[in-house]
Amino acid sequence: MSNLPETPISAPSEPTISMTHLNHHYGQGSLRKQVLFDINLQIDRGEILIMTGPSGSGKTTLLTLMGSLRSIQDGSLSILGHELFNASKEQMTLARRDIGYIFQAHNLLNFLTVYQNVEMALEIQTVTAAEADTRIRNVLTAVGLEDRMNYYPSDLSGGQKQRTAIARALVSQPKIILADEPTAALDKKSGRDVVEIMEKLAREQGCTILLVTHDNRILDLADRIICMEDGHLVNRSAVDAIVQHPK
Ligand code: ADP
Ligand code: MG
Repeated sequence: MSNLPETPISAPSEPTISMTHLNHHYGQGSLRKQVLFDINLQIDRGEILIMTGPSGSGKTTLLTLMGSLRSIQDGSLSILGHELFNASKEQMTLARRDIGYIFQAHNLLNFLTVYQNVEMALEIQTVTAAEADTRIRNVLTAVGLEDRMNYYPSDLSGGQKQRTAIARALVSQPKIILADEPTAALDKKSGRDVVEIMEKLAREQGCTILLVTHDNRILDLADRIICMEDGHLVNRSAVDAIVQHPK
């Protein structure tokens, strides 16, 4: 018998997103206020995580840090193996290429059609025009907007606008999707539809999702639920989360 340790069949992959001892403050001097406290979180590849928590608890702040939209002040945050603490502007921009960000307000450009809004997200990528066209049509079909491609946002319902925003986030096939209350402006049915579409496409693409929501009806779509309270991250079961936010 050899004393060598067993070789694992496949090496454990490193988490897609990893943060340790993350703190964040807003303001200067006497107005300085801490909004995130010692956040420690690992998110694995392909995981679908839902984050809940009261308004003002720090969810959006944490999402913008993960999205490389804001500099890390204190602690460590790494995205796909790239550390964002002390990262240069160029490194931060590079990290954003792997991330699809869906904001609470869909942020579509009103003077562009559905097709053109989605196309915008591809312009920084290096794909041919033909490949871009195929991808745009495929993703718009996947979110059920194949017959709305040439509409302007003002002619769409709330659910259709949010589905356009999802198509825009997914068209570049990002490895990570960060969605900040994407269903807040939608009715029950379209809210769940939108998240189901996002989940299905993400599972197909092996993409990792972190979704912030107050919506109890979609908690069952998550692999894991976390909760933010006053800038602290607490783990909760789905049941606790529902009890905490009855609706
Ligand atoms: P949530 O998304 O959970 O509602 P936020 O991350 O938006 O929470 O906000 C957390 C706290 O930080 C709140 O007290 C909010 O008022 C404050 N805050 C958010 N953004 C800023 C900012 N740009 N400048 C100063 N304070 C901010
Ligand atoms: Mg928020």
